[in-house]
Amino acid sequence: MARLIFITGGVVSSLGKGLASASLGALLQARGYKVRLRKLDPYLNVDPGTMSPFQHGEVYVTDDGAETDLDLGHYERFTGVPSSKSDNITSGRIYQQVIEKERRGEYLGRTVQVIPHVTDMIKEFVLTGADEVDFLLCEIGGTVGDIEGLPFFEAIRQLGNELGRANTCFVHLTLVPYIETAGELKTKPTQHSVKELRGIGIQPDVLVCRSRHPIPAEERRKIALFCNVSADCVITGIDLSTIYEAPIRFHEQGLDAQVLKTFGITDAQPPDLERWHRVVDRVNHPEGEVKIAVVGKYMQVKDSYKSLSEALTHGGIANNVRVVMEWLDSEVFERDDAASFLESVDGILVPGGFGERGTQGKIAAVKFARERDVPFFGICYGLHMAVIEAATDLAGLEGAGTTEIGRPRHPVIALMTEWMRGNQVETRVEGGDLGGTMRLGAYPTILTPGSHVAEIYDCTAISERHRHRYEVNAGYLPRLAEHGFVVSGWSPDKRLPEIMEIPDHPWFIGVQFHPELKSRPLDPHPLFKSFIAAAVHQSRLV
Ligand code: GLN
Repeated sequence: MARLIFITGGVVSSLGKGLASASLGALLQARGYKVRLRKLDPYLNVDPGTMSPFQHGEVYVTDDGAETDLDLGHYERFTGVPSSKSDNITSGRIYQQVIEKERRGEYLGRTVQVIPHVTDMIKEFVLTGADEVDFLLCEIGGTVGDIEGLPFFEAIRQLGNELGRANTCFVHLTLVPYIETAGELKTKPTQHSVKELRGIGIQPDVLVCRSRHPIPAEERRKIALFCNVSADCVITGIDLSTIYEAPIRFHEQGLDAQVLKTFGITDAQPPDLERWHRVVDRVNHPEGEVKIAVVGKYMQVKDSYKSLSEALTHGGIANNVRVVMEWLDSEVFERDDAASFLESVDGILVPGGFGERGTQGKIAAVKFARERDVPFFGICYGLHMAVIEAATDLAGLEGAGTTEIGRPRHPVIALMTEWMRGNQVETRVEGGDLGGTMRLGAYPTILTPGSHVAEIYDCTAISERHRHRYEVNAGYLPRLAEHGFVVSGWSPDKRLPEIMEIPDHPWFIGVQFHPELKSRPLDPHPLFKSFIAAAVHQSRLV
């Protein structure tokens, strides 16, 4: 049975609980332990799949096809452990399961209540598969005191009781604000947050206090005294130049050692952080810089492309350069000439997206990249835009488009209603329930020997994660191939084009999947590594 670590937050949201959890996971892993991270989200959506990126940031997709919270992306990037459906749950899903069980009569006529029925369902979720690892880290979304979070806090309180203090550890993340006018760090919000937590029966073991400045020993002692923890257990989380420095900084302050101590473990092997030091060194001391334009729609909210920006950074780490990302709202190209924005960049990336708004601008960006020989990377909707651009401008198919937006004369991107997963047929219904009509999760792709992608991946069979409804319409492929835009990766049944490239272009690749979801700082994704290498080459040309 794993030891359980619960990570809660207080004072305000967005303190980086996900990163703190992921860093702690990475530290325990670096000490030789097997870890797994989970996220409990108190909102009522069944999953974040139908939430707008403006609201919730990126939807992270797992191999087994779950649409999950973006914190799972942090967990995977920091630990390399692929997450699955069973690592993210929301109140919505918990209630859905409780109600379905009630309808089936499985509560045998009893009154169904938050305690014990909802809390039991949460505990069951938390403990599923817990015997497979040494430490299970469970992050609770939101902040202590939120109404919808209460059943989760109650459930973890019960678990603390049932499994005993020797098997559970509570880490609480708070904010220690600096008040400019007084020139002081304030500990009161932390005191109140812990008071709130203790009010629902949870005494934290370790506090992680986010602060712009290091917290002096005197303030730490004060926090310890008021919050009933030892001063060694008050850890500061200061803002860092790169998130990948977090495991190192937390370790220096003893976060992992204190957590282990709460379990009575004092003789653990020291963590091997060599690889993290190398990553940080590369990020902080690059040998050059490349500029990548990311042309998309959700540019105001950087979290909407979290995995993408991390994957680009990883590509930079692999090439020892800093990747400067220019987040361009594609709508600007509909007013002004794309060239004025794109002339100075070393690579152009059109990421995933949905709906009509901004598509003309994305198509203009593809055209610029294709005609000017600028490295181009199209991801999912980005591939769709590249196909529409090539069909229109190269193959002369007037009215080429995607059936996602209207009824184009040439539906070069269209809805497939049936496809294979392994030896099973999966189906998708037009106009069906939005939560369940996408091709989601890991699918294999067979790469064409001798293609650019086969050279980049250095193999011919890969697996990548998908999240989309529409596909490249195979009926138009011969026309596109005549003009030099060819398929270089197919689904194993050869029905779905998964990758397209222009062999005559320095770097022009569009993929139907989301490679950014599988890139890690310690193991950058081959496509991002190669795309940034092409951008480095491009930067030397100009
Ligand atoms: N909107 C497109 C589709 O549903 C692409 C989705 C995406 O980019 N993830 O197929």
